[in-house]
Amino acid sequence: MKINRNYRSLGKDYLFSEIARRVAAYKEEHPEANVIRLGIGDVTQPICPFIMDAMKQAAQDETRPETFCGYGPEQGYPFLRGALQKYYEGFGVELSADEIFVSDGAKSDLGNFLDLLDRDNRVLIPDPVYPVYRDTNLMDGRKILYMRSDRDNAFLPMPDPEAEADVIYLCSPNNPTGAAYTREQLSKWVEYANLREAVILFDAAYESFIEDPEVPHSIFEIPGARTCAAEFCSLSKTAGFTGIRCGYTVVPKELRREGESLRDMWLRRQTTKFNGVSYPVQRAAAAVFTPQGRQGCEQNRRIYKENARIISETLNRLGIWHVGGKNSPYIWMECPGGMTSWEFFDDLLHRAQVVGTPGSGFGANGEGFFRLTAFGTPEGTREAMERLSRCYGKERA
Ligand code: PLP
Repeated sequence: MKINRNYRSLGKDYLFSEIARRVAAYKEEHPEANVIRLGIGDVTQPICPFIMDAMKQAAQDETRPETFCGYGPEQGYPFLRGALQKYYEGFGVELSADEIFVSDGAKSDLGNFLDLLDRDNRVLIPDPVYPVYRDTNLMDGRKILYMRSDRDNAFLPMPDPEAEADVIYLCSPNNPTGAAYTREQLSKWVEYANLREAVILFDAAYESFIEDPEVPHSIFEIPGARTCAAEFCSLSKTAGFTGIRCGYTVVPKELRREGESLRDMWLRRQTTKFNGVSYPVQRAAAAVFTPQGRQGCEQNRRIYKENARIISETLNRLGIWHVGGKNSPYIWMECPGGMTSWEFFDDLLHRAQVVGTPGSGFGANGEGFFRLTAFGTPEGTREAMERLSRCYGKERA
């Protein structure tokens, strides 16, 4: 037996374990310290009870012969795909139900979609990046081209006509930077992809945080996107489903390459390798899109958005350059005093007992930057920002 040797080209996945190691070491030395974590990418607010009631009801359905469900449709139940169609209509996007594929989350689909792509494709990935795009392609042995995402382009890289990309990853609002593409910027990407016959894999996991009407929720709001894009979305951050697990992928019928429909290929892939998301989870997911469900999710989002506002306001007051926080739960800040990402991590931990994520962990261009998240508690976030102001305010005065 020979192994997939591409795994050897993967870097050690050490970012979060190294953070945990440094925090544990600090806590051992300072057991009394109240360490505030603004590094997590997980939600903290519980799921709205109305949504979980739908799941409880669905579990009850499984106990009665007349409502029992066995295997469900691999693409997802019509009640959920119908709810998603309506949700997209709210953005002015019309989808047919068979272009929507319900899954157990965006991460799995982002990885699984690569089954459809030849190994010889050149893959364009922003740096810094959500590491899943890079690592799933390295596992298959694909060539990766990195595009520079930096302060000069406000962490929103635009197409370089010279770049010979076949597959393009875009994430907007972005993890880790929180930056979000406008309609005009995304139109340029769609134009570039159609011209090159490339395919955009658009990650919309944070679309529910968008407030700015100039920032599209879906790439399919852009004319021409149906011939060049697939979209990956998740209920993890929208509805607090990080533990419940549900997402959806949209593959339009017009997305064809080499005479084949990628939608048909994805259907074939899913019906062969996936048996669908559990019925109670899909009932809960459908409840997310009801008026009560949406209201419950909005209540939680308001808490995160207020955290983001407080973080952003503090950084503005301290004169620290940052992006994100407006259409996103992530704030991407420049490390004060020219510190590297890990130097600032240690400095912040030791002086303010606050934990964030070093930007260099997301790629070489992340060096000198730092990610804070708005997923903390309101009290923790406020306290963390007071400490940040105390520790870094004077330096700048
Ligand atoms: N895409 C991005 C950009 C993310 O940040 C995350 C999770 O943090 C995911 C996808 C994964 O989403 P899911 O929980 O649906 O697998």
